[in-house]
Amino acid sequence: MDPIAVYVHTPFCPSKCGYCDFNSFAMDGEIIDRTVKAICQEILRSSLRGAPAKTIFFGGGTPTFLSGEQLDSLLKAVFEVHPPIVGCEITSEANPGTVDASKFASMRESGWNRISLGAQSFLDSDLLRLERVHKAGEIERAVLAAREAGFDNVNLDLMFALPDQSRHAWRSNLERALALEPEHLSLYCLTIEQNTAFYKKNLRGELNLPDDDSQRDMYEDCLRICAEQGYEQYEISNFSKPGRECQHNLCYWYGEAYAGYGPGAVGCLPLSPDLLRYTNLKHPERYCQAVENGDPIPFESEIIDVATQRTERIMLGLRLNKGVSHEGLPQGALAKLEQRGWIGRDDQRVWLTAEGRHFCSEVALELI
Ligand code: SF4
Repeated sequence: MDPIAVYVHTPFCPSKCGYCDFNSFAMDGEIIDRTVKAICQEILRSSLRGAPAKTIFFGGGTPTFLSGEQLDSLLKAVFEVHPPIVGCEITSEANPGTVDASKFASMRESGWNRISLGAQSFLDSDLLRLERVHKAGEIERAVLAAREAGFDNVNLDLMFALPDQSRHAWRSNLERALALEPEHLSLYCLTIEQNTAFYKKNLRGELNLPDDDSQRDMYEDCLRICAEQGYEQYEISNFSKPGRECQHNLCYWYGEAYAGYGPGAVGCLPLSPDLLRYTNLKHPERYCQAVENGDPIPFESEIIDVATQRTERIMLGLRLNKGVSHEGLPQGALAKLEQRGWIGRDDQRVWLTAEGRHFCSEVALELI
């Protein structure tokens, strides 16, 4: 079997952040251990047993809300079913408020070699507004603890265009992140999603969000400041030191197959030439019941045929700085987009220009 990317979803968090629309639950106690056991069972019964892992990514939720032993049992199950290839990138997301030196040391011992810290902001007032559980001071402590444990590949997630955030405050946030010398930065504009506490607050006019021009200026700051500090942008929201791109996320952007385990996990199985995309039951209780009873774990699935795969590859590939192959793309649309200054192209590839990055969806729609 070909090597495959492996994703494990742990859905628990100490509390729910106001802007969060991920499959996460503020639950504690017996359900966590039960869910860990169920995820291990799901992995061990996988139809992809034997496919080596080329990347492994634990996301959530907050994987580091689990104990070192629980995390270790999950990674052991992955290793048994998907032996990691040499150089396999093995990432866990982590919340700065849920880690310390001993948690990181035990994770390093288990086999993780990359940490992605949800820093979000270096201002306590922002973190309070976002309803995060950590304080700004814990971010630096978490990075130092990760380094002490031997992690030489650390990502920081930051968000901009936060309520009441000035451009000056954003730049200072970014500079504080860069001062910690992470290998990778993910810089996202806050989006207000339905079914979140922020959505309701926004409808009531309680969020003072930066306007479109300010958001654009903050994004331009990301590009300029990261470039000045030697970080290469390789995707719309992602920047890294040379050679430190997130290999796992690249698999998604290349439209490759991947295995997904855990409540709410999405997987995309190879059914040559098609792909089968499935989504697991989302609520931990229902997920555990299904695993324990031997019932189907996905609650929905769809066949992604070759034509749809091509469409998705264009949409996702355009997010990458190196863009997509222009083979088969409509020449008229390409000429129009080039004239508008939204794309660049050579004899093989098409990519978004700096201006075009503000119009990624529009460009994709023109090309598909
Ligand atoms: S820590 Fe992440 S997953 Fe958990 S509630 Fe906050 S945003 Fe959602």
